[in-house]
Amino acid sequence: MVTLDGMSRRNNRRRSAGPASLGLNGPRVEAGPSGYGDEQYLVRQIPGARAVKTYRCPGCDHEIRPGVAHLVAWPADGLGGAEDRRHWHTGCWNGRGSRGITRRWS
Ligand SMILES: [Zn+2]
Repeated sequence: MVTLDGMSRRNNRRRSAGPASLGLNGPRVEAGPSGYGDEQYLVRQIPGARAVKTYRCPGCDHEIRPGVAHLVAWPADGLGGAEDRRHWHTGCWNGRGSRGITRRWS
């Protein structure tokens, strides 16, 4: 008998309201932009001082200018491929799931 272990992966991801005070520069795991709970993304915050290029935010399709603090997200199961990384406005990323998120607490 085979069980799909990946389907029941549990973590203690929790959407806290407070600022991320721990591991400020370490990536944290969040639900992906599609809003489905089984798609997990790693998110790393980029302070304005480290934002030196112009990126295009997939959330609003507008540019992220140099010097603007934002964040980078990439699929947690993508083995960290740099080409999968996307730069988002912080607000766009935070609001990505407000459009009909399917929240599943398993
Ligand atoms: Zn945006």
